[in-house]
Amino acid sequence: MRCDEVRLHLLDYQEGRLRPEAQNAVRAHLDGCSDCIRADTVEQELTRLLEQRLPQHPASLALKRRLAARWAQPSSPRSWWSRWRASLAPALAATAVVLVAAPLVYYERAASRAAREQTAMVAEAVNDHLRLLASPRSLDVERGGLHQVKPWFAGRLDFAPVVTFEGDADFPLKGGSLGYFRDRKAAVFVYARRLHPISLLVFRADDLPWPSRGLTRLDGVDASIAADRGFNVIVWRRGQLGYALVSDVDARELAALAARLTGGS
Ligand SMILES: [Zn+2]
Repeated sequence: MRCDEVRLHLLDYQEGRLRPEAQNAVRAHLDGCSDCIRADTVEQELTRLLEQRLPQHPASLALKRRLAARWAQPSSPRSWWSRWRASLAPALAATAVVLVAAPLVYYERAASRAAREQTAMVAEAVNDHLRLLASPRSLDVERGGLHQVKPWFAGRLDFAPVVTFEGDADFPLKGGSLGYFRDRKAAVFVYARRLHPISLLVFRADDLPWPSRGLTRLDGVDASIAADRGFNVIVWRRGQLGYALVSDVDARELAALAARLTGGS
C-alpha cells in the first residue's frame, strides 16, 4: 500500500472500519513509514480534539471525514480556473472588503461630520449667550414686553423674527439685543428663569448644518438638545428661521420654555 492510499484510509483504519486485509495492510505500512505514523498521530489528535470540542455535534465526524478526504486527495494538476482563482483570491477579497466597507466608512464619515457640525452649532449658541452675558450694556431694549421688543428689531435685521411667546410668571421676557450667529445677524430675546438668563437666538436658517439625527419632538418641531460647557442648548428650525435656546437652567426647564416658544409660534 502506498502512502497516499494509507492517508486516505487512516480514519477508517483508526475506527476499525476497513476490511481485515486492508486493516492489516495499513498497519503493516505504518510499522515501516515514519511519515504515515506522524499523519496517523495527527489524525488521532484531531479526532480527539474535534470530539472534545464538539461533543454533542453530529457534524463533527462528517466534517472530520471531509477534511481527511481533502487531505488525502492526490495532488492532481490544478486547472486553469483554480490557478486563476488562487491568484485572484487576494484581489477579490480586497474588492469584497471595499464593497462592504466603503458605504460604512462613508456613512461613518458623514455621521461624524454631521456630529462635528452639530457641535459647532451648539458651541456657537453658547458663545453668543456668553457674549451677551459679558456685555456691559447687556440688553439693547429692556422690558416693555414683546410688543416693544419685536418692533425694535425692525430695520436692524434683514428678516422679521417670528416669536409669539410674551413671557409668563415662570419665564418672564427681560428684553432683546442684536447678536450674531456665525456669519449672520441674530435677534436675541432674553427670558429668565428665577435669576438665570436664557437667550433665544433667532436667525436665518439657510446654509447652516442643521442636525438631522437624534432629534427630539417638541411641540410641532424636531429639536436638537445638547449641552456644552455647563449650558443646555436646544436648537430647531421652523420655515426659514433658525432658533437656538441657551441657558444654564436645567434641561427640563429649558425644554418647558422651548415648548412654550414652539407651541405658540
Ligand atoms: Zn507512508
